[in-house]
Amino acid sequence: MDYRVLLYYNYTQVEDPEAFAKEHWTFCHNLGIKGRILVASEGINGTLSGTKAATDCYMEQMLSDERFKDTYFKIDYSDGHAFKKLFVRPRAELVALHLAEDIDPQQITGKYLEPQAFREALLAEDTIVIDARNDYEYDLGHFRGAVRPEIHNFRELPDWIRKNKEQFMDKKIVTYCTGGIRCEKFSGWLLREGFEDVAQLHGGIAAYGKDEKTRGEFWDGKMYVFDERIGVEINQVDKHTVGKEWFDGTPCERYINCSNPECNRQILVSVENEKKYLGACSLVCAKHPNNRYVKKQQLTANEWKRQLDSLTK
Ligand SMILES: [Zn+2]
Repeated sequence: MDYRVLLYYNYTQVEDPEAFAKEHWTFCHNLGIKGRILVASEGINGTLSGTKAATDCYMEQMLSDERFKDTYFKIDYSDGHAFKKLFVRPRAELVALHLAEDIDPQQITGKYLEPQAFREALLAEDTIVIDARNDYEYDLGHFRGAVRPEIHNFRELPDWIRKNKEQFMDKKIVTYCTGGIRCEKFSGWLLREGFEDVAQLHGGIAAYGKDEKTRGEFWDGKMYVFDERIGVEINQVDKHTVGKEWFDGTPCERYINCSNPECNRQILVSVENEKKYLGACSLVCAKHPNNRYVKKQQLTANEWKRQLDSLTK
């Protein structure tokens, strides 16, 4: 466990995101850091991996910069890099909500709940806990009893809330996401939308899992992460698997992308069923001429056909 994975964001002013991104890429590259860092005039959002020495140096440098001095880094341990490459990209928004009128979390955002207060909110009768992430993230793991918005992308969340408004009116609302950045905007949007009592889990699930008192209690499954690890453990108290195998519904925490490159749907699939269904989510996808599983396994046309036939029998 010589490597560290850092997750952080900071809503702050960055004058020239493009110039900053270039300079920051060189800085990270020289440290041997890999990962994905987004820079916008509204701030910075990063998830990256590197050796302990490299990530220590990275954090020290960031915290010595006036703009980023109050950044809260969530730190994970790892055997190696969690990313294959390094991207530092300028962006219009840190998290894309595509609102006609953007939310500035420095002006409006929900109350911060620290992990222990959040755990109390999970148990409170008058409080609704909303998962602010996408459906496939929820399906791998989530807080027990949390609302699952039917969205595949963060920008669909405001519309989904408007359509389901009655469920949440007159309730206390608490939101959570991976590291907290999405909730900064989402909880601010809820307030602007007229919801009165809105709070957010400070530091997200990542901070909750590291908290010494909560130790991830009431989290079920794994936390979806946007790197090579795909899922990480959160609950150190009592772990339950909630992920369900795409084909047979048995407990499963193994995500693959459908082997049809035009589908690419992320599905939880066992090793056996990946083989059986040729890495695809459906028969239609299994038959696709560019099936990546077939290519990777170097199946002959006959072997491919035989497997497809066995599926239709
Ligand atoms: Zn598919």
